[in-house]
Amino acid sequence: MPGYEPFLLCDFHVHTRWSDGRLSLREVIDLYGKTRRFDVIAITDHILMERDLLARAGRLVTLGRRQFSVTEDRFHAYLEEIAAEARRARRLYDLLVIPGAEITQNHIRSKKNSHIVALNITEYVSADQPAEDILRAIRRQGALSVACHPHHRTTRRFEIGTCYLWDHRKQLVDLVDVWEAANRDDLFSVTSLKHYPYVANSDFHKPKHLYSWKTLLRCEKNWDAIARTLRSNVDVALTLYRNGSWAA
Ligand code: ZN
Ligand code: ZN
Repeated sequence: MPGYEPFLLCDFHVHTRWSDGRLSLREVIDLYGKTRRFDVIAITDHILMERDLLARAGRLVTLGRRQFSVTEDRFHAYLEEIAAEARRARRLYDLLVIPGAEITQNHIRSKKNSHIVALNITEYVSADQPAEDILRAIRRQGALSVACHPHHRTTRRFEIGTCYLWDHRKQLVDLVDVWEAANRDDLFSVTSLKHYPYVANSDFHKPKHLYSWKTLLRCEKNWDAIARTLRSNVDVALTLYRNGSWAA
């Protein structure tokens, strides 16, 4: 019956071993798929700044074995693997997999930091440019932007806060498509109170992150319908997915 279609259970923020996730892309797909609950996930590995300090430290610790970033020269291979795994996911689990990336800025002065997920990305977007230009580059290629954990503020010295977009929301509101109102275990009440378009994601890095905030969308299971629903933010709900069950 039109208007009473079932909700899709979605997670639009998932990391794999292409950056700093614990699991391979295939392992992630199988983990979500085998729950038989999920309809849509987006693979959103980090694109870091050239001089990202945390990645440098990580490369030292792993003696260069891990990259932590989808670099420009690996971007095409990254998209190809997502496309191949997406076909397998649809066939095995009826799971729609969307190609994405998290364009990540980790400055030492965290006031300037933003983490921006681009959904349905087709072209590389550099993290070495102002957040405004990242948002414009995402929009130019017809992808959809998500301001990630926009209210994550920290007072600890070696933790990264990511409040730039939120602190400049008045200037940026027309460039940001959706705000991440909930990330893993945290709920950013300020975002939702402002009635911005919102979404909730796991920011998945390891298996236990499966149990976290998620988004429910009432629309057809294809990218055009999903993008329309996210942008208009009608028929969207946040849900906490716990131990294999969920309730809106
Ligand atoms: Zn992030
Ligand atoms: Zn992330």
